[in-house]
Amino acid sequence: MEKETGVKPMEFPYLFSPITINNMTLKNRIVMTAMHLGYTPEGKVTDRLIDFYTLRAKGGVGLCIVGGCPIDEFGGMANMINLKNDHYIPGLRELTHAVQTAGAKIAAQLYQAGRYTHSSMIGGEKPFSASAVRSKLTGETPRALELEEIPAVQDKFAEAALRAQKAGFDAVEILGSAGYLISQFLSPLTNLRKDDYGGSFEHRMRFGLEVIEKVRRAVGSDYPIIVRLAGNDYMAGGNTNKEARSFATELEAVGVDLFNVTGGWHETRIPQLTTFVPRKAFTYLAQGIKSVVSVPVLASNRINQPEIGEETIRNGEADMVTMARALLADPHCPNKIKEGKTDLIYHCIACNQGCFDRIFQQKAATCLVNPRAGLEGQIEPVPPKRKKKVLVVGGGPAGLKAACTVAERGHQVSLIERSDRLGGQLLLNRSIPGREEMVVAATDLIHNLKAFRVRPILNKEVDFAFVRDAAPDVVILATGARPFLPDIRGIENYEVIPAWDLLAGKTGVGNKVVIVGGNAVGLETALFLAHQGTISPEVLHFLVTNRAETWDTLEDLADRGHKEITVLEMTKYAGKDIGSSTRWTVMSELKRLGVKIVTEAMALEVLQDGLKFEKDGVEDTLLADSVVIATGAKPEEGLFQGMGDLVSEVYIIGDAKEPRNALEAIKEGYLTGLKI
Ligand code: SF4
Repeated sequence: MEKETGVKPMEFPYLFSPITINNMTLKNRIVMTAMHLGYTPEGKVTDRLIDFYTLRAKGGVGLCIVGGCPIDEFGGMANMINLKNDHYIPGLRELTHAVQTAGAKIAAQLYQAGRYTHSSMIGGEKPFSASAVRSKLTGETPRALELEEIPAVQDKFAEAALRAQKAGFDAVEILGSAGYLISQFLSPLTNLRKDDYGGSFEHRMRFGLEVIEKVRRAVGSDYPIIVRLAGNDYMAGGNTNKEARSFATELEAVGVDLFNVTGGWHETRIPQLTTFVPRKAFTYLAQGIKSVVSVPVLASNRINQPEIGEETIRNGEADMVTMARALLADPHCPNKIKEGKTDLIYHCIACNQGCFDRIFQQKAATCLVNPRAGLEGQIEPVPPKRKKKVLVVGGGPAGLKAACTVAERGHQVSLIERSDRLGGQLLLNRSIPGREEMVVAATDLIHNLKAFRVRPILNKEVDFAFVRDAAPDVVILATGARPFLPDIRGIENYEVIPAWDLLAGKTGVGNKVVIVGGNAVGLETALFLAHQGTISPEVLHFLVTNRAETWDTLEDLADRGHKEITVLEMTKYAGKDIGSSTRWTVMSELKRLGVKIVTEAMALEVLQDGLKFEKDGVEDTLLADSVVIATGAKPEEGLFQGMGDLVSEVYIIGDAKEPRNALEAIKEGYLTGLKI
């Protein structure tokens, strides 16, 4: 079915103006920077990888940077796209040819992780670095490179660059950010050497500068060299934007054509990737680099909207913008922007559930909002053999995705929702600080549904009579779940509040609160409550710019609300169902806000003035004005029994089948939509 948008095309002249980097001209300023995807289990290019990048190229991106590509035996993992010997060149040629034929340029990122490599990834060898300084990322201490070993390590960059050139890549990017080998030489925290490669800043720059000189000699003067640079390491005692600016000036002098500026090291405690990071948060670092170099600068991190990209370039903060996860989420994003269909973009919501969290578990990347990511060659929404009348019951993420998918394929779709709005549990995130963008996943589905001319019916409870009258060929039950109330003594005598009701704004709580359940919902409810009474970003900005309060007072106003919150969790760790990329940021926010978490504690009885619990065999009481329950959910499956007698094709999906996260719900909606 043809999509109708009714939206007046919006122009993005800066985003869509060509730019030339050395001898490479890009048709626009949108770059998909390197991401670990896990599609190359043996390091060789696979059809899966080619299909993935070809679709992004067809979707209109200007440049794809792929990688990281390990350059030697000692600085990567087996499943990365390999550039360490000529054996890999034929596969890489297929990749570059496919992407270029589809209309984009392609660069290879040269990767040497130094002390960020775990010994298990390199056959038990000890990783090397500038000095023997323990890595918090791997928990291991590397060995310091001997002086006479350094030239050979640098040569590997040059050899890999030449290999990339032979394989048809339009450019190479040298990874000098995030705490990898070049950063390790540059930082006084990890470079304790006393020779010509350590000590003064000039000496610490030497390793990286010589790498670029060698690469330049290998690839010739007219081949584009990109350097990915940490705009600020965000490591106490480490390099800041001041040092990054000095390094960039020297790098430009030895032949760098483009700087890709990102945030801090993997070891930093400043979040880099989650929804806690505001959009464009690190663009000021790119701007700092741009102020001292004459070659173009690419701004990275949390630029997932065309308006932000356009503004960044128009304002002169950077010359180009990165949309990496944004293109994992929606490969057609650049073309949608160009064609004025920005309302149909599926935005990346920085959840990391489908990408980084899976990569950290050594699994292949997918995407919460785009279940087809990584399966481009295997599944495709194609028109059905016979057009059917499909009734979707429930407008949460699973129902919305199923409805969108069947509508896109050309079926006739009705969507019925019992409440007054679409989005289901995704909407609960709108009041959780740092989680607001989850709502965008629902809004994007709603926009796309409308473009397929599906008009959802709200405030309607579906029963068997309704289904009989509607006479659909297919029913998809996506009726969601409801809170599960545990069997705690006294729960029926005193008012307890389901966390979902609180997050939905149906009720409030007193100042002293106990939350039973330390899973994602319990902790996010704690975040929501703990922020109440803290100062807003706007007021903070007003007070800072007018020097109205002391820093101590401002910190206090930002860190403390007016509620006293305790979370009670039965198991040893709270937040186990939150992905590893995000969990630590949630825990540190809760700590900052003074939320108390009691683990391995069992709720025993709801009292008039609190909650009795047991920990380590000892009973205790937490005084509270309100007890909030966040102990999970159970399916709303009432309609399933007997539906098969009315309709021959019935599916039950999402939380209605089994309560899970949004990634699973959307994927199930999509796959069900493809089956019909
Ligand atoms: Fe973005 Fe989440 Fe998709 Fe990753 S899984 S690309 S963070 S929406």
